[in-house]
Amino acid sequence: MRESREARVIGVDLGGTNIKAAAITKTGQVVTKVEWATEADKGVEHVINRLQKIAYTVAEEAGWNWAEVTGMGIGLPGFLNFRTGVVEQAVNLGWKNTAIISVLSESMGIPVYFDNDANAAAIGEAWVGGGQGFDHVAVATIGTGIGGGFIINGHIVRGANGMVGEIGHLLMEREHGRLCNCGKHGCLETISSATAMLRSAREAVREGAQTTLSQFALDSLTTRDVIDAARLDDKVAYAIVKQAMETLGIALSHIGNTLNPQRIVIGGGVSKAGEIIFEFIRKGFEQGALPRVIEACQIVPAKLGNDAGVIGAAKLALEA
Ligand SMILES: [Zn+2]
Repeated sequence: MRESREARVIGVDLGGTNIKAAAITKTGQVVTKVEWATEADKGVEHVINRLQKIAYTVAEEAGWNWAEVTGMGIGLPGFLNFRTGVVEQAVNLGWKNTAIISVLSESMGIPVYFDNDANAAAIGEAWVGGGQGFDHVAVATIGTGIGGGFIINGHIVRGANGMVGEIGHLLMEREHGRLCNCGKHGCLETISSATAMLRSAREAVREGAQTTLSQFALDSLTTRDVIDAARLDDKVAYAIVKQAMETLGIALSHIGNTLNPQRIVIGGGVSKAGEIIFEFIRKGFEQGALPRVIEACQIVPAKLGNDAGVIGAAKLALEA
């Protein structure tokens, strides 16, 4: 195969605040990367124009002629219709029933693909990150919420209408659970997200618990402070992090018993806290998972950080 015929793809991570685009090789290496403000407030057409421009810019910076680019993939936060290529709803972008695939592929002269941002990140991690080399990979991202993506037999699983991976809304507390953004009570992300741990810490301080966290101004306290205090044997912080991460581990054991993955990759800000959280997650997992499920599965940190989304989006264009 001549070099100019080799797959050269653009991966785009379209968020409500920023657009990231990267030129990516067929082996998942980032050649170059560009990040711009999305400017979603200026409307759909404006953002679609920016998507085109950022793709042309990143190709040029990679030293690729546009004619050499074989496809583009986009990850974005929203409900997507994979049959029609329409973004049915993307709250962060202010989009409703927005056709982007046909518009972009026609104007750019290349095939364009999309997936939701959680799936794109999961595809990236399974391809060249924490799940590299495995065909059955679950990815859980722990941030302000909890998202997930599942690669089974080497392929992302999307389900009947794109809702596979909404693990933040697994019901973990049937009574007295906190209200979730989804309108239900007791969802996993009301217990185990970074936001939930911070909320628990603030509640403990307000209730007068004996903790080093009480020396922080409540507004400036971060999840990181809570995990750091847990590591330094602050009993209150330790109990909060333990409860949150063991519950996450139990939720992952349900996924383990359902899907029998080889790797569960933990991403998001919380995953950078290191061994303390993995110890609790594994403990919860081992409590709920069957022995053969445990034997086949390792729980590991994500490797790609913020690049997972662009790398996974690029893979969409390589797989097709
Ligand atoms: Zn929920």
